[in-house]
Parts: sequence; structure tokens; C-alpha cells
Amino acid sequence: MSKLVIFTGAGISAESDIPTFRDNDGVWEKYDLNVVCNFDTWKDNYNIVHAFYNKRRHDINNAKPNAAHHQIAKWQKQYNIKIITQNIDNLLELAGCHDVLHVHGNIHKMKCSECHAEYDIVNDWVGNCRYCSGYVKPDIVFFNEMAPKYEDMFAILNNIDVDDVLLVMGTSGQVIDIGTYARHGDFVSILSNFETSSEKYQIQDSDFDYVFHGKATQKIFEIDALLKRIMQ
Ligand code: NAD
Ligand code: ZN
Repeated sequence: MSKLVIFTGAGISAESDIPTFRDNDGVWEKYDLNVVCNFDTWKDNYNIVHAFYNKRRHDINNAKPNAAHHQIAKWQKQYNIKIITQNIDNLLELAGCHDVLHVHGNIHKMKCSECHAEYDIVNDWVGNCRYCSGYVKPDIVFFNEMAPKYEDMFAILNNIDVDDVLLVMGTSGQVIDIGTYARHGDFVSILSNFETSSEKYQIQDSDFDYVFHGKATQKIFEIDALLKRIMQ
């Protein structure tokens, strides 16, 4: 049985009202990423960093999975599937997905940078570590920070066989250059993004065998029909 490897980005959660980072009126337009998402400076900007992620967590707590998240959960029952996401939200899990590889972390987890205590958090984080008073960081990969889950991600991406399918949804490819995998891979590759790739994006439509433009919640049904034809 061939396998379906799904790689998602912020775009699949956009219609659940979680803003993407790079689109117009995206999160980066309103905040300076060097202040709120930088491993070198986060302790200096401690209160602003937490205010920013508390707001993100609030948005995510108010969001519901959309048709794209639900369809991926259905595919997980039907196909041999691997799900990789750059998203820090839990909408795939809320739709019923399991074993999702969150390569950039999880908004509902915190870790102390000193004693390494881990916290599950639902709402706001205020203050320092309860055990050692150290600085506590959202368990999210910041710029200039190592990404421990990349090893597992590369193990999956380097193991896509000829009969397999790679489906990439809602990512500009700016942080992880997934287009290169599609371009060089010997497998069928599908891209679903809102708009045609431009010089703004790392990802290029021409890297993929099949390309869908438009809203993820609409295109997901066309992709489902395509998978029915091509998955073995
Ligand atoms: P990005 O913001 O760089 O790109 C978003 C992509 O989604 C674009 O290609 C755009 O065309 C597409 N898109 C927008 N709306 C769409 C829709 N309705 N349907 C289909 N596609 C749509 O996102 P990225 O490549 O994931 O990189 C941003 C980084 O920011 C990631 O590492 C991620 O961790 C983080 N992030 C996460 C969330 C989240 O967890 N939901 C939200 C914002 C940013
Ligand atoms: Zn601690």
C-alpha cells in the first residue's frame, strides 16, 4: 500500500481564523519577529514574548477545525499516512488526527530554560518557573533555535517511495524548503496554496505534479477525488 505524506503550514488554519505569518494582514505585519520570536533575545523581551503567545493561544483556543483538518483526519483512517505540520495549533488533533509531527512545537506547552520542567498550559502564562524561578519559554521553535523534531521530519521526507504521494498544503515554503523535495522526488507531489507562487514565496508551483489554488476548505474535496484515483 502506498503512503500519503502530508506537510501542512499556516494556510490550512487560516479559514479557522488563525492568521498566517506572511500573508497580507498576517501576524508579522503587526509584530516585530525579532522581538517576539528570537532565541537570542527572548529573555530580554520576556513580558512581550509572553503577551504575544498568550494572544496567539487565545486565538487558537477560540478556533475550530475546518473542512481541511477534518478531511485529513478521514484520510488517516483510509490511508497509510504521515502527517507533518509546521503549525503550533491543535486543530488537526481536534479534528481527530493522531501522531501529528509538530516540527515547530506546540502553543499549549511550555518549558523552563533552566530546570527543563515542562508545563501543559491552556490559557495565559505569567511569571517564571514554579520550581526554580527560571525563564520559561513557549515550546515553540524560535528563529536562531535548533529544531529537535527536524530529524524525524527528514526521516519521513527522505523515505518517500515511488508509489507514494506528497501533499503540501498552506505553506510558503519559506521556513522549510519543501518545494525542493517535491522537485527532486520520484513520487507524485501535490501543492494546495491560496495563490500562485510568486517571488514572495520559496515554494514554486512548477516543483509539483498537481497544483490547486484557492481556499484549502474548498480544494480539499478536489484533492480527495485525485487521491482516490492515484493512491494505490
Ligand atoms: P506562511 O504564512 O509563510 O504561508 C502561508 C501559506 O498559506 C501561503 O502560501 C498562502 O498561499 C497559504 N494560504 C493562506 N490562506 C490559505 C487558505 N485559505 N487555503 C490554502 N492556503 C492558504 O506559513 P508557513 O509556511 O506555515 O510558515 C509560517 C511559520 O509560522 C510556520 O513555521 C508556523 O509554525 C508558524 N505559524 C503557525 C500558525 C499556526 O499554528 N496556525 C499560524 C501562523 C504561523
Ligand atoms: Zn525551572
